[in-house]
Amino acid sequence: MTITYIGLGSNLGDSQAILKEAVSQLRKEGEVRVSKLYSTPPMGPQDQPDYLNAVVELRTDLAPLALLDLLQRIENESGRVRLRRWGERTLDLDLLLYGDLEISNDRLTVPHVGLFERDFVLLPLLDLNEKIVVNNQLLCHLNVVQQSELEPVALANWWENKDNI
Ligand code: ATP
Ligand code: CA
Ligand code: CA
Repeated sequence: MTITYIGLGSNLGDSQAILKEAVSQLRKEGEVRVSKLYSTPPMGPQDQPDYLNAVVELRTDLAPLALLDLLQRIENESGRVRLRRWGERTLDLDLLLYGDLEISNDRLTVPHVGLFERDFVLLPLLDLNEKIVVNNQLLCHLNVVQQSELEPVALANWWENKDNI
Protein backbone atom coordinates (compact mmCIF):
# COMPACT_ATOMS: atom_id res chain seq x y z
CA MET A 1 0.00 0.00 0.00
CA THR A 2 1.38 3.38 -1.03
CA ILE A 3 0.28 6.89 -0.06
CA THR A 4 -0.31 8.88 -3.24
CA TYR A 5 -1.46 12.43 -3.87
CA ILE A 6 -3.58 13.37 -6.86
CA GLY A 7 -4.29 16.92 -8.06
CA LEU A 8 -7.82 17.58 -9.33
CA GLY A 9 -8.84 20.51 -11.52
CA SER A 10 -11.87 21.52 -13.58
CA ASN A 11 -13.00 24.69 -15.31
CA LEU A 12 -15.65 23.46 -17.72
CA GLY A 13 -19.14 22.16 -17.04
CA ASP A 14 -20.45 21.70 -13.49
CA SER A 15 -16.94 21.63 -12.03
CA GLN A 16 -17.94 20.86 -8.48
CA ALA A 17 -20.11 17.91 -9.51
CA ILE A 18 -17.31 16.68 -11.79
CA LEU A 19 -14.76 16.83 -8.96
CA LYS A 20 -17.15 15.04 -6.58
CA GLU A 21 -17.61 12.28 -9.14
CA ALA A 22 -13.83 11.99 -9.51
CA VAL A 23 -13.46 11.62 -5.74
CA SER A 24 -16.11 8.91 -5.65
CA GLN A 25 -14.33 7.02 -8.44
CA LEU A 26 -11.00 7.29 -6.58
CA ARG A 27 -12.63 5.99 -3.39
CA LYS A 28 -13.23 2.69 -5.15
CA GLU A 29 -9.45 2.18 -5.28
CA GLY A 30 -8.61 2.79 -1.66
CA GLU A 31 -8.99 4.99 1.36
CA VAL A 32 -9.10 8.71 0.55
CA ARG A 33 -8.66 12.01 2.33
CA VAL A 34 -9.72 15.15 0.49
CA SER A 35 -8.44 18.73 0.78
CA LYS A 36 -10.49 21.89 0.89
CA LEU A 37 -11.71 23.24 -2.44
CA TYR A 38 -10.02 26.24 -4.07
CA SER A 39 -11.10 28.59 -6.83
CA THR A 40 -8.02 29.61 -8.79
CA PRO A 41 -7.18 31.78 -11.79
CA PRO A 42 -6.21 29.86 -14.94
CA MET A 43 -2.62 29.09 -15.86
CA GLY A 44 -1.72 29.72 -19.52
CA PRO A 45 -4.48 31.26 -21.67
CA GLN A 46 -6.32 33.85 -19.57
CA ASP A 47 -9.54 33.88 -21.62
CA GLN A 48 -10.96 30.86 -19.81
CA PRO A 49 -12.94 30.42 -16.60
CA ASP A 50 -11.34 30.08 -13.16
CA TYR A 51 -10.61 26.54 -12.02
CA LEU A 52 -11.79 24.60 -9.04
CA ASN A 53 -8.85 22.68 -7.57
CA ALA A 54 -8.38 20.15 -4.80
CA VAL A 55 -6.01 17.33 -3.85
CA VAL A 56 -6.88 13.77 -2.87
CA GLU A 57 -4.68 11.51 -0.77
CA LEU A 58 -5.25 7.94 -1.95
CA ARG A 59 -3.83 4.85 -0.25
CA THR A 60 -3.62 2.28 -2.98
CA ASP A 61 -2.02 -0.95 -4.15
CA LEU A 62 -2.11 0.18 -7.77
CA ALA A 63 1.30 0.45 -9.46
CA PRO A 64 2.16 3.92 -10.82
CA LEU A 65 1.22 3.29 -14.46
CA ALA A 66 -1.93 1.44 -13.46
CA LEU A 67 -2.86 4.47 -11.36
CA LEU A 68 -2.16 6.78 -14.32
CA ASP A 69 -4.38 4.55 -16.49
CA LEU A 70 -7.13 4.92 -13.91
CA LEU A 71 -6.73 8.71 -13.74
CA GLN A 72 -6.92 8.97 -17.53
CA ARG A 73 -9.99 6.71 -17.62
CA ILE A 74 -11.75 8.90 -15.05
CA GLU A 75 -10.78 12.00 -17.09
CA ASN A 76 -12.20 10.46 -20.24
CA GLU A 77 -15.39 9.36 -18.51
CA SER A 78 -15.97 12.96 -17.42
CA GLY A 79 -16.18 13.70 -21.15
CA ARG A 80 -12.83 15.45 -21.07
CA VAL A 81 -12.26 17.80 -23.94
CA ARG A 82 -9.20 19.96 -24.21
CA LEU A 83 -8.44 22.16 -27.17
CA ARG A 84 -5.17 23.87 -26.36
CA ARG A 85 -2.20 23.59 -24.00
CA TRP A 86 -3.24 24.46 -20.47
CA GLY A 87 -6.62 25.33 -21.91
CA GLU A 88 -10.00 24.72 -20.37
CA ARG A 89 -11.01 21.16 -19.53
CA THR A 90 -13.75 19.33 -17.70
CA LEU A 91 -11.32 17.36 -15.58
CA ASP A 92 -7.57 17.17 -15.05
CA LEU A 93 -6.10 14.53 -12.74
CA ASP A 94 -2.36 14.77 -12.11
CA LEU A 95 -0.36 12.23 -10.10
CA LEU A 96 1.58 14.56 -7.81
CA LEU A 97 3.35 12.08 -5.55
CA TYR A 98 3.59 8.31 -5.34
CA GLY A 99 5.07 7.56 -1.93
CA ASP A 100 8.71 8.63 -2.05
CA LEU A 101 9.22 7.27 -5.55
CA GLU A 102 10.87 9.23 -8.32
CA ILE A 103 9.58 8.21 -11.73
CA SER A 104 10.68 9.40 -15.13
CA ASN A 105 9.43 7.67 -18.26
CA ASP A 106 7.45 8.44 -21.43
CA ARG A 107 4.12 8.62 -19.66
CA LEU A 108 4.92 9.66 -16.14
CA THR A 109 7.08 12.13 -14.26
CA VAL A 110 6.74 11.97 -10.47
CA PRO A 111 6.92 14.19 -8.47
CA HIS A 112 4.72 16.08 -10.94
CA VAL A 113 6.62 18.79 -12.86
CA GLY A 114 4.45 21.66 -11.65
CA LEU A 115 4.37 20.66 -8.00
CA PHE A 116 6.95 23.10 -6.65
CA GLU A 117 5.65 26.11 -8.58
CA ARG A 118 1.86 25.92 -8.32
CA ASP A 119 0.12 27.29 -5.27
CA PHE A 120 -3.20 25.78 -6.39
CA VAL A 121 -1.57 22.36 -5.94
CA LEU A 122 0.61 23.08 -2.92
CA LEU A 123 -2.05 24.67 -0.70
CA PRO A 124 -4.52 21.79 -0.95
CA LEU A 125 -1.66 19.29 -0.56
CA LEU A 126 -0.62 21.05 2.64
CA ASP A 127 -4.23 20.85 3.90
CA LEU A 128 -3.73 17.09 3.95
CA ASN A 129 -0.16 16.94 5.19
CA GLU A 130 1.23 20.20 6.54
CA LYS A 131 4.66 18.71 7.31
CA ILE A 132 5.15 17.05 3.94
CA VAL A 133 8.74 16.87 2.66
CA VAL A 134 9.59 16.31 -1.02
CA ASN A 135 13.18 16.19 -2.30
CA ASN A 136 14.35 17.08 1.22
CA GLN A 137 12.28 20.27 1.08
CA LEU A 138 9.51 21.20 3.49
CA LEU A 139 6.83 22.35 1.07
CA CYS A 140 5.25 24.74 3.58
CA HIS A 141 8.45 26.83 3.47
CA LEU A 142 8.38 27.43 -0.28
CA ASN A 143 8.01 31.10 -1.26
CA VAL A 144 5.13 30.30 -3.57
CA VAL A 145 3.23 28.95 -0.55
CA GLN A 146 4.20 31.78 1.80
CA GLN A 147 3.18 34.40 -0.75
CA SER A 148 0.00 32.75 -1.99
CA GLU A 149 -3.26 34.62 -1.59
CA LEU A 150 -5.46 31.67 -2.49
CA GLU A 151 -8.31 31.07 -0.08
CA PRO A 152 -10.42 27.92 0.12
CA VAL A 153 -14.01 28.27 -1.11
CA ALA A 154 -15.18 25.19 0.77
CA LEU A 155 -14.10 23.20 3.78
CA ALA A 156 -12.79 19.65 3.79
CA ASN A 157 -16.16 17.90 3.57
CA TRP A 158 -17.32 19.61 0.35
CA TRP A 159 -17.13 16.33 -1.56
CA GLU A 160 -19.56 14.55 0.78
CA ASN A 161 -22.36 17.09 0.46
CA LYS A 162 -25.03 16.46 -2.10
CA ASP A 163 -25.48 20.16 -2.81
CA ASN A 164 -22.97 22.45 -4.46
CA ILE A 165 -21.55 25.34 -2.46
P1 ATP B 1 0.65 19.88 -16.68
O1 ATP B 1 1.24 18.48 -16.69
O2 ATP B 1 1.65 20.97 -16.89
O3 ATP B 1 -0.21 20.13 -15.46
P2 ATP B 1 -1.62 19.14 -18.26
O4 ATP B 1 -2.14 18.55 -16.98
O5 ATP B 1 -2.52 20.05 -19.02
O6 ATP B 1 -0.26 19.94 -17.98
P3 ATP B 1 -2.10 16.79 -19.79
O7 ATP B 1 -2.48 17.10 -21.18
O8 ATP B 1 -3.22 16.51 -18.81
O9 ATP B 1 -1.17 17.96 -19.22
O10 ATP B 1 -1.14 15.53 -19.73
C1 ATP B 1 -0.19 15.30 -20.73
C2 ATP B 1 0.59 14.03 -20.41
O11 ATP B 1 1.33 14.18 -19.21
C3 ATP B 1 -0.24 12.79 -20.16
O12 ATP B 1 -0.51 12.11 -21.36
C4 ATP B 1 0.65 11.92 -19.22
O13 ATP B 1 1.18 10.79 -19.85
C5 ATP B 1 1.78 12.88 -18.87
N1 ATP B 1 2.20 12.88 -17.48
C6 ATP B 1 3.51 12.86 -17.08
N2 ATP B 1 3.61 12.87 -15.75
C7 ATP B 1 2.33 12.89 -15.26
C8 ATP B 1 1.80 12.92 -13.95
N3 ATP B 1 2.60 12.91 -12.86
N4 ATP B 1 0.45 12.94 -13.80
C9 ATP B 1 -0.37 12.95 -14.90
N5 ATP B 1 0.09 12.93 -16.18
C10 ATP B 1 1.43 12.90 -16.37
CA1 CA C 1 -2.27 19.60 -14.86
CA1 CA D 1 -2.81 16.38 -16.52
